[in-house]
Amino acid sequence: MATGKINVSVENIFPLIKKFLYSDHEIFLRELVSNATDATLKLKHLTSIGEASVEYGNPIIEIKVDKEGEKIHIIDQGVGMTKEEVEKYINDIAFSGAEEFLDKYKDSAKDSGIIGHFGLGFYSAFMVAEKVEIITKSYTDAPAARWTCDGSPNFTLEEAEKETRGTEIVLHVAEDSTEFLEESRIEELLSKYNKFMPIPIKFGTRTETLPKPEDAKEEDPAPTQEVDNIINNPNPAWTKLPTELKEEDYKGFYRELYPMQFEEPLFNIHLNVDYPFNLTGILYFPKLTNDLSAQKDRIQLYQNQVFVTDNVEGIVPEFLTMLRGVIDSPDIPLNVSRSYLQADGAVKKISSYITRKVADKLASLFKNNREDFEAKWNDIKIVIEYGMLSEDKFYEKADKFALYPTVDGTYYTFEELQEKIKGNQTDKEDKLVILYASNKEEQHSYIEAAKNKGYEVLLLDSPIVPHLMQKLETSKEKISFTRVDADHLDNLIKKEDTQISKLSDEEKETLKTDIEKTINNKSYTIQMEAMDSNASPFIITEPEFLRRMKEMQQTGGGGMFGMGNMPEM
Ligand code: ADP
Ligand code: MG
Repeated sequence: MATGKINVSVENIFPLIKKFLYSDHEIFLRELVSNATDATLKLKHLTSIGEASVEYGNPIIEIKVDKEGEKIHIIDQGVGMTKEEVEKYINDIAFSGAEEFLDKYKDSAKDSGIIGHFGLGFYSAFMVAEKVEIITKSYTDAPAARWTCDGSPNFTLEEAEKETRGTEIVLHVAEDSTEFLEESRIEELLSKYNKFMPIPIKFGTRTETLPKPEDAKEEDPAPTQEVDNIINNPNPAWTKLPTELKEEDYKGFYRELYPMQFEEPLFNIHLNVDYPFNLTGILYFPKLTNDLSAQKDRIQLYQNQVFVTDNVEGIVPEFLTMLRGVIDSPDIPLNVSRSYLQADGAVKKISSYITRKVADKLASLFKNNREDFEAKWNDIKIVIEYGMLSEDKFYEKADKFALYPTVDGTYYTFEELQEKIKGNQTDKEDKLVILYASNKEEQHSYIEAAKNKGYEVLLLDSPIVPHLMQKLETSKEKISFTRVDADHLDNLIKKEDTQISKLSDEEKETLKTDIEKTINNKSYTIQMEAMDSNASPFIITEPEFLRRMKEMQQTGGGGMFGMGNMPEM
């Protein structure tokens, strides 16, 4: 038997990094801008604790595209590196200088917003570049250094000329990546990944129109000047405290997030917690349209203000994926599969925190301005109903503010409804019978008949309502939902009020046979004794359970919510 050691040489690693490290080549820019940001935040921290005696000033990060020279430059004014530091941080793959920094300055730097983590980001440069240069000058007095590497494990490192503090990364763009030499493509990447990063990012200049001087003539053109084109908002609303923000700020931030969205959000929920995990963010309830599948993937996930993804599946409960907004948490592990995420303890806590915040916000809206809450009910009910079905914790809270509108537009909570109908709408088994209609026009005569009897009729028309009724019937004692045109409505009919039909028995029989022939459906029942003789001479009913089963089958399959996950009925 032979034993030995498998030899992993660096030669083998480069092609692997290039191919597999990140599935998306475009994230190279995010990684390099993150490093530039970290370098700047480190300097900010070091100057603030007196460890660096330089002026911090107003540093920016600049991105330049040199189409002719086939190069991209990423320039920062951060801490820079000495030659020794380049050896340590760059040549050592998978050694994270960011982690080291956070370790060293532990408590004082924990809120510094430093992004780096795995010590791999820099090498993503080789996904798009055939050669990478680093020209860097440390904030200390050490001379500047130049490192170059062509994607093989061989590098050069020498002293260089650079007067200004900071680092310039030069990417010599590879032939298969020339798309990144297009300004529009870089702009697109910057606005996707870097729109809310904490250090101003300059990409070119833009012309700004200045106000005309007092003595200008009518025909004089307004003066203009070239200014830095800063592509990001370094202080997005979610990084501020709720007390610093007004309603208008939240709306403004919504427009910033969704420039193409003209509808205003219904309300927002500010998330802000730093123990036992770190999470900030703002969620919005949008006005939902009927095309619910189009509503998904609208919450954006950030880590320290760097965009990560707009697929938050596994991180927020499914019923909340219809909301919009931002969540930012460094505590969500992203280098793992989604199914693993759902099992992760920290992620579970985050998910239930978000659920609770949403429930609390809804409860306070209901409590503080019921009228407004009722007005919004139609636009928010699907989220709430779906949440009640799928998350028990949410159900417990929502049960107090979920509304049940009547066909006439009165809104009851469940408790109020019970109070209102008890006594009057009880069946032979002493169950409370909750009457509802799902279509006001089609069920018009049934609704009228029931109302004439003094019954309350709810209007429940959202697609998941059959599931919700099932849930309520099993969670609450002695209630049953019955559609106004269902058969066991008989149980409720106050016989003494029923007018006797003017038809003879024979006429009734003939009519009944005719109707049966026409509708030709064995599961329907025809009752010649009308609920209300003024409205309808006979009624056709279908057993409640049969119809509901059919409805649930319709919404049960891979509907827009992927109701495959629905609790067993
Ligand atoms: P991470 O950011 O996770 O630490 P990277 O591979 O992205 O790992 O970067 C490795 C290290 O190289 C950084 O931690 C940092 O010490 C150093 N570095 C990279 N880019 C810069 C830069 N622009 N300025 C100063 N140091 C940098
Ligand atoms: Mg990094």
